[in-house]
Amino acid sequence: MAGLVAAWELRQAGYEVLVLEASPRSGGRVHTLRTPFSDGLHAEAGAGRIPNTHDLTLKYVRMLGLPLKPFYPSPNTDVVYMGGHREVAQPGKPLDLTKFGLNLTSREQQAGLDGLGHLYLADGVRECGQAAAANWPQDSLKRYGSVTIADFLKAKGASDSAIALISCGFETDSALDFLRDLASHEVPQLYKIPGGNDRLPLALAAKLSGVITYGARVAKIQPTAQNVEVTVEQGGRQQIVTGDYLITTLPFTVLRHIEVTPGFSEAKQRAIREMKYGAVSRVYVQTKRRVWNAQGNTGFARVDRPMEVWHPTWDQPGPRGLLVAYTYQELAHRIAAQSPQERIQKMTAYFDQIHPGCQDNFELGHSWVWDEQPYARGAYAIADAGTMHTMLPAAMATEGRVLFAGEHCSSRNGWIQGAIESSLRSVAQILKATA
Ligand SMILES: Cc1cc2nc3c(=O)[nH]c(=O)nc-3n(C[C@H](O)[C@H](O)[C@H](O)COP(=O)(O)OP(=O)(O)OC[C@H]3O[C@@H](n4cnc5c(N)ncnc54)[C@H](O)[C@@H]3O)c2cc1C
Repeated sequence: MAGLVAAWELRQAGYEVLVLEASPRSGGRVHTLRTPFSDGLHAEAGAGRIPNTHDLTLKYVRMLGLPLKPFYPSPNTDVVYMGGHREVAQPGKPLDLTKFGLNLTSREQQAGLDGLGHLYLADGVRECGQAAAANWPQDSLKRYGSVTIADFLKAKGASDSAIALISCGFETDSALDFLRDLASHEVPQLYKIPGGNDRLPLALAAKLSGVITYGARVAKIQPTAQNVEVTVEQGGRQQIVTGDYLITTLPFTVLRHIEVTPGFSEAKQRAIREMKYGAVSRVYVQTKRRVWNAQGNTGFARVDRPMEVWHPTWDQPGPRGLLVAYTYQELAHRIAAQSPQERIQKMTAYFDQIHPGCQDNFELGHSWVWDEQPYARGAYAIADAGTMHTMLPAAMATEGRVLFAGEHCSSRNGWIQGAIESSLRSVAQILKATA
């Protein structure tokens, strides 16, 4: 998204642009999976939800004439499956959390699953959620940046069970990063693009078709005082492409393996080398029937593992359905270590506990591990305690004629909004430098 938006905006401003894309498709981490599923069903490998507050993302959705619809069905009757106990959460009806074997304080029990985060994080979300592109992260937020979300919650009196449920695998994430991210989730509406979120990058790519070169892997970057030379590998051949400026939108997980001569500044090299990326593995299970609907549930579920359970086909034609396990960090690593077949088998058995009948109706499955994708090598940038204030400014800074964009160089890492924000910043820098 960062590369496409930069190309679009620069071309609108009259510049000649070239997009070098290593893979055969546009969209990067906005990627909708349509195979191997049947009946035209689809599910997201990457970006799933578009918050109504993400003005930049919505601006391009509208510009391209794309529709939006809510991400979650309403009302969303989640199944809660924790400590081996299963209950259906009815909207407005608090669950007795003691049944799930959770060791919560009485305040936490009272707050309920939906109120847990709010109990401890509402003030922090208000303060850190105002991620302003220009001066993010402000010095006033340093106290949030220097502590992990787990320690932040502990200091507020949260029990270990509450910490595990709230942080969802991201215990070592800085409170600043976590709260800023939570602000994008706790909004009045989360949308998706019917037909698949990749319609957004694909629609933009269609407008830029002539300036994109696919299968073009950037192998080396050589900035000079007058221009930037990029060595591109395509079909086993290497060629050098020269431009006045280069906006690199490569994730730092990828850029750290690319030769840069002469090297960038020490601070930039450190950011490229050390920036942390979250791990995400998704496992997809296709069933012949939507057994959860027959049981009066939507298919979404809340569990006591670092994962979300989604039913992305709730608005797609049945009778078949897909369930998705969106797993994070340690669990994502464990799933990555399994064979593709084992991932599907184990997740189907787990889904069967949540929605009995999944196993009997199983047809096929699939998995997507972001750490395994050669052009991503991780899901999205995250900031451990103590790193955001030092690393982000260095990540964003230009190096001569090389500019840095992508979600990892923004105040909204992990979101399309961040990719676009960083892209527009780079475009503005080029316009200013060439005015
Ligand atoms: C699991 C997951 C869930 C997410 N959920 C959401 C969500 O709900 N909502 C939301 O808004 N965002 C979400 N995001 C984040 C969003 O997808 C990203 O922030 C955004 O798409 C990143 O765009 P980008 O342009 O920075 O990077 P990318 O999309 O990674 O683009 C980088 C491009 O560079 C290409 N490339 C890589 N190496 C080379 C090379 N050597 N030479 C040439 N090209 C190369 C890649 O193929 C890719 O096309 C999610 C991401 C993931 C992974």
